[in-house]
Parts: sequence; C-alpha cells; structure tokens
Amino acid sequence: MAVAAVQTFILILTFMNQIAQNLAELRRKIPPHVTLVSVSKTYPPTTIMEAYHAGQRVFGENRIQELAQKQPLLPADIEWHYIGHLQSNKVKYIAPFVKLIHSIDSLKLLINTDKEAQKNNRVIDCLLQFHIGEETTKFGMDAAEVEALLNAAEYKNLNHIRIVGVMGMATFTDNQQQIRAEFQRLHAIFQRLKSQYFSALPYFKEISMGMSDDYPIAIEEGATIVRIGSAIFGKRTTLKL
Ligand SMILES: *Cc1c(COP(=O)(O)O)cnc(C)c1O
Repeated sequence: MAVAAVQTFILILTFMNQIAQNLAELRRKIPPHVTLVSVSKTYPPTTIMEAYHAGQRVFGENRIQELAQKQPLLPADIEWHYIGHLQSNKVKYIAPFVKLIHSIDSLKLLINTDKEAQKNNRVIDCLLQFHIGEETTKFGMDAAEVEALLNAAEYKNLNHIRIVGVMGMATFTDNQQQIRAEFQRLHAIFQRLKSQYFSALPYFKEISMGMSDDYPIAIEEGATIVRIGSAIFGKRTTLKL
C-alpha cells in the first residue's frame, strides 16, 4: 500500500515536471511577441494548475460546457480563449469572462456575441475564423463571406465586440509545403483586411495559427498567437474530466 502510494506520488511528480518542462521548452522556441495559448481541452483543473504554477496564464478550450465548468474552479487571473465551434445561443455561458473568441464564423454569431457582451457590460475581442485547410469539416469563412460580414449594416452597429484579427487551421497533413502555403494565405488575407477595413485600428493585429505539430512554420509565416495542446499536456485520449 505504502509503496504504491509513493509510486503514485512519484508518477504525479514526474507528470508535473513534464508540463513545466514542456512549457519552458516552448517558451524558448516561441518569440516574445507571440502569445502562447495552452490548449487545455479534455484536461482537468488539477492538470491546468500545473501549467498555471509554471507561470502559464493563457488557456484555450473548445467546448462551451467544459469551459463553463472549469472556469469557476480556477484562478481569476487566467485569460480564457475560446477556440472551438460556437453556436450563437451558447455565447451567454462564456460572455462574462471570455478574453478572446477565436472562432467567429458568421454575422449571426458576431451579433449575438455583441448582445451578450453588452449584457455583461463588456467589449469582447474576437477573431474571424477562415477556412484555409482543405478538409470540408473544418469550420470557418471564405473571403467572400468575410467581405459580406464586414460590409453588413448590422456589423457597423456593434459596439460591444472588437475584431482584433484572424484565425485559421491548416490541413492535417505531413506536407510542410502545403501547411506553409495555407499559413501564407491566411497572412495575406490578414494584410488585405487590415488595409481595406482596419487600417486606422491598431488593435487589428492578431493572426492565430499554428498548433503542436505546425507552430514553427506558423511563426515563420507571421503568427502572433499559437494554440498548443498536446506538446504541453501530452497526447489527448478521451475526455479526462
Ligand atoms: C485542439 C486544438 C488545438 C491544439 O491542438 P494540439 O495539436 O494538441 O496542439 C489548437 N487549435 C484548435 C482550434 C484546437 O481545437
């Protein structure tokens, strides 16, 4: 019994050290102007606290219910980023605290985010999610949809959201050239939107792209935010809540 307990403890210690080590390694590779979002989806609050104790304050989640459950259990100075698909009627669960929504993919969602932000007396920062990969399953808008959104009269009346940049996910592939080309496309889209719609707005400056397997390419191609999960917390199995 006692031996098992000690073994368990040592195992936990090893695990804690691993997260701190992974974070230290990433911070060494990621330049200071790039924000590291540690993607904690499927991991419980105790695991998140290991990263927190290693100094990490920015965390990303992709399920509303999971985020709404974890947030009250964790320190108030954590910056929560929402990175998953978001249904308009679910925004209310995260509107009181969410720092940045990466996944705006419709005018309807933006309007609802504005409404919920207003109820909470807040302005919520948002990114426009672009479909840059080849999978049809990945969410996000194309250039024409984004143009329509930014030209819509309803958009111009929104005072409780701020579009601060763009987000995209590359195709899940080993083809580095393809991944690079997709990130380059997102960067080009960002530049065009910046000059056409946001040239007077210095806060429009974020490009969220790059995950555990492709973040070095993303940084080379201009990412200002990377979203990294498994390289910090380990491979996800099923839901660990
Ligand atoms: C899960 C997820 C990530 C992180 O993926 P890893 O490969 O574990 O780094 C990044 N972005 C989004 C949108 C995700 O859903």
